[in-house]
Amino acid sequence: ADHPDPADDNTATALPRLLDRARQEYRDLAARGLALDLTRGKPAPAQLDLSGELLSLPGARHTAADGTDVRNYGGLQGLPELREIFAEVLQVPAGQLLAAGNSSLELMHDSLVHALLSVLPGAESRWVDQERIAFLCPVPGYDRHFALCERFGIDMIPVPMTDEGPDMDAVERLVAADPAVKGIWCVPKYSNPDGVSYSDATVARLAAMSTAAPDFRIFWDNAYAAHDLTDEPVGIADLLAACATAGNPDRAFVFGSTSKITAAGSGVAFFGSSPANVRWLLANNAKRSIGPDKVNQLRHALFLRDADGVRTHMARQRAVLRPKFDAVARLLEAGLGGTGLATWTAPKGGYFVTLQLTDGGAKEVVRRAAEAGIVLTPAGATHPYGDDPRDAVIRIAPSYPGLAELERAIEGLTVCVRLVGYERRAA
Ligand code: PLP
Repeated sequence: ADHPDPADDNTATALPRLLDRARQEYRDLAARGLALDLTRGKPAPAQLDLSGELLSLPGARHTAADGTDVRNYGGLQGLPELREIFAEVLQVPAGQLLAAGNSSLELMHDSLVHALLSVLPGAESRWVDQERIAFLCPVPGYDRHFALCERFGIDMIPVPMTDEGPDMDAVERLVAADPAVKGIWCVPKYSNPDGVSYSDATVARLAAMSTAAPDFRIFWDNAYAAHDLTDEPVGIADLLAACATAGNPDRAFVFGSTSKITAAGSGVAFFGSSPANVRWLLANNAKRSIGPDKVNQLRHALFLRDADGVRTHMARQRAVLRPKFDAVARLLEAGLGGTGLATWTAPKGGYFVTLQLTDGGAKEVVRRAAEAGIVLTPAGATHPYGDDPRDAVIRIAPSYPGLAELERAIEGLTVCVRLVGYERRAA
């Protein structure tokens, strides 16, 4: 796709020509019969191959460092040697970290269910006994967080994101005003989808703010804790420590997993919190399991070795991912730079690029792209109830397709953005 001539700009005389050209490009695109998919942030096979060794681990070995036979029942908190490795990555002392099954989403689900059905430390009653429960949802955000709220009848209150995390003035006001507000979803590092990392000031305010609910919880989904895309890894402040210092030790639920470190279906998920919260979750978990998959945990500990091992491994992940993010940036600039039709993020880590359409029309772009064989995450998925009031946000997941396929998809996407953008301007 050729770059619109800057001289064309958006003047009324240029618009008909730009629109004609976009229509022609779209017809050409549709005629190519593409079948491309930019929807889910899944690791590509080449990324999964980086931990291929896991398939032959733990080999003949079946004892953990402390002599535990990992093949047997028990060890509800998870293998200590693996918790040691992720204590540093997730900023949770190993003694307050749980290594569980393969999915952190499952741990978030269970934490909500347990909070609904059993009294949390510091709570006066179970959440299910309250007339109404609400969560703050920084937007744009992760659709599966919102799906959990819908699933359990938890109202969602959108809060805008800034480049330092959620708008803390709004957050502080909302949590102080209403005891029904019991929680907030946070993806604090390289957030899904806009790649924002929370500033130290944001973390300090979250830890210290006064909440009307005594049992308020921050669901700190640190899914991209180790997922840097640049030479300057972003560090975030330690929320758990900040909460303890601020006198709110039980406020933080920290989640993480190796889903995008090792294998996305057979990794290990973690939960970290205050000693009281960890006891609470373990007591609840004891009813649902006699122990986690410690064979999987042992092979992860043997494969990753230590926090440095995680960093080394993530550098290999980055070598696969970075060219894809670079290609997205290059092609968005080539196809949309100077048009004024959209802006997009340049994330320093994580899994997504967010495209923001200046004049809306995201649903229409997604529909036109689908008709041309390019599947995108549904517009609105980044907002509670699927409702993006400006109809502006499109989430791009560059990880899974091969480079050539990704390039074709992004070029095609820019064609759709130009088509819809110029159509809307001409309307
Ligand atoms: N949290 C965020 C923010 C994610 O983006 C994802 C996956 O895309 C997950 C959680 C899923 O994590 P898990 O595979 O550990 O369930």
